[in-house]
Amino acid sequence: MAIEREVILDFYTGNVLWIDMSTKSTRVEPLNMEWAERYIGGKGLLFRYMWEYVPPKVDPWAPENPVFLMSGPFAGTNVSTASRLVVGAKSPATNILNDSYVGGSFAPEMKFAGYDAIIVTGKADELTVVTIRDDVVEFRPGKRYAGLPTSEIESAMRNDFDKDCKTLSIGPAGETLLPWACLSTDQYHKAGRGGHGALFGSKNLKAIAVHGTGSVTVGDAPAFLADMKRIHDEFVLTDDNLWAHEEGTPVLVDLVNGAGALPTNNWSAGFFEGAKNINSESFQKIRLKKRACYQCAIACRNFHGTTFKGEEVRGEGPEYETIALLGANCGIGDIDALMKTNELCDELGMDTISTGAVIGLAMDMTEKGIADFGVRFGEVDAYAKLPTLIANKEGVGAELALGVRALCKKYNVPELSMEAKGMEMPGYDPRGSFGMSIAYSTSDRGGCHMRTYPVGDEILSGDMPNDTMDGKVERILDGNAANGFIGQNFSSIKFCGIWCDFWAVTPEQISQMLKHVWNKEFSEAEIMQMGERVWNLGRLFNLREGVEPDTLPKALYAESGAHTSGPSAGKSIGEAQFATSTQNYYSFRGWDENGVPSEAKLAELGVDVRL
Ligand code: SF4
Repeated sequence: MAIEREVILDFYTGNVLWIDMSTKSTRVEPLNMEWAERYIGGKGLLFRYMWEYVPPKVDPWAPENPVFLMSGPFAGTNVSTASRLVVGAKSPATNILNDSYVGGSFAPEMKFAGYDAIIVTGKADELTVVTIRDDVVEFRPGKRYAGLPTSEIESAMRNDFDKDCKTLSIGPAGETLLPWACLSTDQYHKAGRGGHGALFGSKNLKAIAVHGTGSVTVGDAPAFLADMKRIHDEFVLTDDNLWAHEEGTPVLVDLVNGAGALPTNNWSAGFFEGAKNINSESFQKIRLKKRACYQCAIACRNFHGTTFKGEEVRGEGPEYETIALLGANCGIGDIDALMKTNELCDELGMDTISTGAVIGLAMDMTEKGIADFGVRFGEVDAYAKLPTLIANKEGVGAELALGVRALCKKYNVPELSMEAKGMEMPGYDPRGSFGMSIAYSTSDRGGCHMRTYPVGDEILSGDMPNDTMDGKVERILDGNAANGFIGQNFSSIKFCGIWCDFWAVTPEQISQMLKHVWNKEFSEAEIMQMGERVWNLGRLFNLREGVEPDTLPKALYAESGAHTSGPSAGKSIGEAQFATSTQNYYSFRGWDENGVPSEAKLAELGVDVRL
C-alpha cells in the first residue's frame, strides 16, 4: 500500500511510520517536532515516544507493547559514527525500558525511505515480513523464512524483495521467544540486549526490509560539509580514537584481566589464566580485514577467520564483552571455540553477553552438583553445542533458555544470579572496578556498561584508583569525554545523536554539530542538561512501570564476596559503602531516598511529563 507522508525537514524526515501487525495496516504521522527539539532524537526521543505510547504496566509480551526503531538527526549524513539505530521497548527480560543500539546501515536507509522512526504494534496471525520501499509498505507471508538464520534471511530479502534493501531481522532464537534474542542487521550488527528479537518474534515479525531512494537534507550544505570535514580532521581521526581502528575492543582483555575485573568461571574469579589465548594479540593473528558501519571513519570492526573442528569460521567480532562472557566466564580460552559460539549466536540471533552468562552459570551449577547440564568450565565440545540447544529450547537448552535469574530461582541458588534488574551483567567485575557497582545498580536498563564507564579512569587510563569509591559517584552522573570518565548524563545526550561509543566526542563537539540542526549555539552546560533531562525521563518511565530497587548481587559488593586470588583479591566495596554510595547518587541527582526525582529537579530540567 502507498501512504501519505508529510514534508521533509532538514536533518529530520518529519515522518513516523506506524505498523500494526494485527490488522496489517500502516499509517504515517508527523514527527513531534516539539519533542524533537526537547529530546533531539535517538535515546531521548525514544523515551518520550515510549512514555506516550507504551501502555502503563503493559505486559511486555502483549501485542500492545510497541517496538520503536528510532534514528538520530545525523543518520544518513556524513557525520562519522552517527548513522546508528536505537531499538526501544519495554523489555521482556527486565520489565523496564530497554534502548539497544546497532550500527550497520539500517537507520540511514530508513531515513532515505522517508522515516525518522518506525513503531511496530500488534501481532500478526502468522510469521510475516514487512517490506518498505519509500511510501510502499507491504506485508508478506513469512512462513517460507521460518527458522532461517540471520545471514540467510538477509540474503533472502535481497533476492525476493530488493537487491539493495537493508534488513532488520530475527533468527531462530527470536522465533522461539528466547528472552535475550536480539535483532540483527548487516549480518554482524546486533541490537543485542533486552530481548527485542523476542518481541519481534512475539509479533510474528521475522524481518523488516527497507529500501529508500530519497536523501537527508542538511540546510546550508556547503557550510555543513565544510564544518563536518573540520570536525572529522580535528576530532575523529585522532590518536584518541585510533585504538578502536587498530585493535578494537579486544584490547580490553589484558587490561581488565590485569585489574582483576574479568568475569571468570561464572564470576567466581576476576582473573583468567587463559586470557592470553583470547586477547587482542591472539585475535590480530586471525584478523582478515577491517570493516565499518555506514559513514564511519573509525572503522573499528574486525573481521576474523579460523577453523573449528575442521570447519571454516569467519565473521566480525567477537567484541570484548563476548570474549569476557562467552570466553573467560565459561573458562574458555580456546579462540577457535569462541569464534564458533560467537558465530552461532550471530546466526541464531541471540545476545552473546546473556548467552555467556547462562552457559557460565550452567557450568557452575554442574561443577557444584546443583544440576547436571553436561558441561563444565573450559569444556569445549559441550560448550559449542549449547547456543543451538538454547535457541531452539532443546535438551538442556530448554531450561537454560529461562535465563540466569529464572534458572537460579528454579534451583533456589539466588547467590549465583549474576544480573541486575534481570539483565545479565557484562564484562567488568566491580570487585576490580569499584565504580562499576553503582554504574550497574543505577543503569536505566539493568546490568549495563554503556550508561557510564568508570572503567575508563579506573583501569584504562588509571587516573583514578579502581579500589575506592572516592569521587566516583559525582562522575557517574556528570563525567564526559573531556574529563575522561563517561557519565550517565553525557552518554544520554551522546545516544540522542546517536554517536558511537568509540568516538570520544565531547560536549563542545556535540554543540558544534547540533548547531547545524537547530541553528543556535548550545553551551556545554546546556548539552549536559539535555542528557540529564533524558536520564530523568527514563527514570520516570521505569518508576511508572514498577522498577526494582537499585542493587546488585551481594557477592559483587559485600565483604564476604571478595575474591580469594588474583589482582583484586580481598577487595570489596563493602555493604555500608555500597548503601551510602547509592544514597549519595540519589542526592546528587536531586532524587529522594527512594530514587524518585523531585518536582524541582524535573522543572529545572524541563522534563515535560510527570508520574
Ligand atoms: S566505531 Fe565501529 S561500531 Fe562505531 S560506528 Fe564506527 S564501525 Fe560502527
